[in-house]
Amino acid sequence: GSRLEGVEMAPPDPILGVSEAFKRDTSGDKLNLGVGAYRTEELQPFVLNVVRKAEERMLAANENKEYLPIEGLAAFRKATVELLLGADSPAIKEGRIACLQSLSGTGSLRIGAAFIAKFMPGAAAYISRPTWGNHKNIFADAGVEWKEYSYFDPETIGLDFGGMVADLQAAPEGSVVVLHGCAHNPTGVDPTPEQWEQIADVCVAKKLLPFFDVAYQGFATGSLDADAFAPRYFAQRGIEFAVAQSYSKNLGLYAERVGAISFVLSDKEAADRVLSQLKRIARAVYSNPPIHGARIVSEVVGSEEMFAEWKGEMEEMSGRIKAVRQVLFDELNKLEPNKDWSFILKQVGMFSFTGLSPAQCDHMTNKWHVYMTKDGRLSLAGLNKAKCKYLADAPSSNSH
Ligand code: PLP
Repeated sequence: GSRLEGVEMAPPDPILGVSEAFKRDTSGDKLNLGVGAYRTEELQPFVLNVVRKAEERMLAANENKEYLPIEGLAAFRKATVELLLGADSPAIKEGRIACLQSLSGTGSLRIGAAFIAKFMPGAAAYISRPTWGNHKNIFADAGVEWKEYSYFDPETIGLDFGGMVADLQAAPEGSVVVLHGCAHNPTGVDPTPEQWEQIADVCVAKKLLPFFDVAYQGFATGSLDADAFAPRYFAQRGIEFAVAQSYSKNLGLYAERVGAISFVLSDKEAADRVLSQLKRIARAVYSNPPIHGARIVSEVVGSEEMFAEWKGEMEEMSGRIKAVRQVLFDELNKLEPNKDWSFILKQVGMFSFTGLSPAQCDHMTNKWHVYMTKDGRLSLAGLNKAKCKYLADAPSSNSH
């Protein structure tokens, strides 16, 4: 037998496992509403026009494929902090940001978590209940204990703001708070600007380190700037924080693995020291980041014309999801007018958090070929108007 006889089978991933099951289904009705990946109205994967353009320019420039520095492509890092905080941000001008290009949102979170494990020993990371399925894996694998704070109120299908603030107030000083920058996954429920102010107050009072996860900048409101409200507000207040950014969704660069981990700090000297340690961590994990996606981002954000075109395509993607929300809402209202379906319209971003139980989710999949995660989350980015009626009819036929 193998010397690895003792290795047990790992369970399928709760999100990517859904895509695997979807591929095996031979039904013509099947819908993949599991993974948060944007599809066109024809339910096809979408490569943005600006990305194609950038790639054409890159090909014409005939660039080489030498290693990048450990911290990544300089033009990419500049574009990325500017996208987050705005080009006129004092933190950028004063060199107070340690920004390391990393492997999309996941890899950036993981490097940030490794930094916390190493330099903030004993600090726990507080994550929202519920949250994106991978947060727990990322912090646990990096050796950071995770705990939960209240976030979602199933009664109102909205934010449990009182519970959230109380839990953060009860967290030990020096803890890390993971905050979704916008378009909270899976609930689609974000704090209001006034609530962000109060969250910032608690972070200051309890000396908590906010760690923003910005995976959907542009998908909440359709505007890249408006969606950066929370991290920009924290920066304005002079609060130090960490932030993981991803271009998987908003530039559709899923498989290119392009993103960044940054620490926005109070002085340049601290930023230099932190960057040196982020580099030390990345060097031992993957050495240096991939160049292709970073060049695409630098091309797009570096050209006024292409940046403007991206903003248009961003609005188009988020607008299509909003249109699907409206049609799904209309279909459900027609079917069951006495139920309050307004949560579908109020939730923002790629998802609708339905409140379906795990058994009901299974039924959706087994009977109706609707693939979704067991927490009741539907990715509306994988739905189109034509399929809304089919989806609306599906659960109602189930006597739940
Ligand atoms: N953070 C959240 C909340 C997400 O939903 C996702 C992707 O679904 C990610 C991070 C990371 O995705 P990626 O590693 O492709 O950037």
